[in-house]
Amino acid sequence: MTQFPDAVELTQKLLSFNTINPPGAEHECAAYLGALLEAAGFRVDYAAFAPTRTSIVARIGREMDKPPLGFTGHIDTVPLGAAQWKRDAFGASLEGGRLYGRGASDMKSGVAAFVVAALANAERLRQSPGATLVITADEECGCGGAAYLARHTNLLGEVGALLVGEPTANYPLVGHKGALWLEARTSGVTAHGSMPERGDNAIYKAVRAVDRLRDFDFGVEPHHLMGRPTLNVGTLHAGLNINSVPDRATIGIDIRTIPGQDHAGLRTRLQQALGESVEIVPMIDVEAIYSDPAEPWMQRVFEAAAPHVGERPQPRSATYFTDAAVLNAVYRDVPICVLGPGEPQLAHQTDEYCLVDRVEQSVAIYGELIREWS
Ligand SMILES: [Zn+2]
Repeated sequence: MTQFPDAVELTQKLLSFNTINPPGAEHECAAYLGALLEAAGFRVDYAAFAPTRTSIVARIGREMDKPPLGFTGHIDTVPLGAAQWKRDAFGASLEGGRLYGRGASDMKSGVAAFVVAALANAERLRQSPGATLVITADEECGCGGAAYLARHTNLLGEVGALLVGEPTANYPLVGHKGALWLEARTSGVTAHGSMPERGDNAIYKAVRAVDRLRDFDFGVEPHHLMGRPTLNVGTLHAGLNINSVPDRATIGIDIRTIPGQDHAGLRTRLQQALGESVEIVPMIDVEAIYSDPAEPWMQRVFEAAAPHVGERPQPRSATYFTDAAVLNAVYRDVPICVLGPGEPQLAHQTDEYCLVDRVEQSVAIYGELIREWS
């Protein structure tokens, strides 16, 4: 049998690659994981949506009636932020059960845990429906790697269930809201500020649009777990100088949707509310996901996680969105569970760390699910 690192060692190795996004540059990290998996008999396909922006799909198993079990995680991280780090963000130092580094919780530990669980069970997987590992680039800037895999390749294949290793402190989550980020643009005619009657002020139009957005009615019933959809106007950019009539204004809108909400229909409704003079351009468009907690595989995940979270898990959802929302377009109607070793409150923080114990627990949970699937 080939030697491979344990999950903590592998997390440390992954943390040493700078995959801060932007710019991303995940290729070396992806190639390292690809080589590790290939050495254990996985078939690995590489897909780069741009130079150095590499995702991988690794597969092992036999063609059978039952599809493989899917795992997914991303290898890009967010920037370090303005505050000074007390630890080396790429040093992967271990102190008192904590492993420090950018991406420790979100989510290189999650990727390392499912890769090691798959490597440790490679022999068993080979003789079974097996597993598919989807390891993506560019999740943090809007699921770019996953979108490329879903829309421009046929590498994803089929899975029977999907585990998303995003940070949940190993608590199984049954879904998350969707995100529809839009830019609403208004235009006008510029003129000298001393003669505004000669111009057409784009800010006035934008303010009317913002007012309508504040009162926007989604026209949907709340979801029993995720509640209501939300809308926030996060930015408003307009005007170059005080003594000109602005001819362009841009409103940044962050909408979080609930399961069952169709984004195309929502955009039509927004366009009607804002009127034809406002141009709406999508920036990020990922729908909500939700899996019935009573579904048998979801129940198995709950059982596997229970000893590690100290209680019988209750149905809960994540506050963030994940690549699953994009992969879901290909992996139609399979149960999806978000469960990973990272600490959700440490994602994107200064001096981000993960807990070594949780990484080992994740390997145990993933391993149990792999053995059952086989
Ligand atoms: Zn993440």
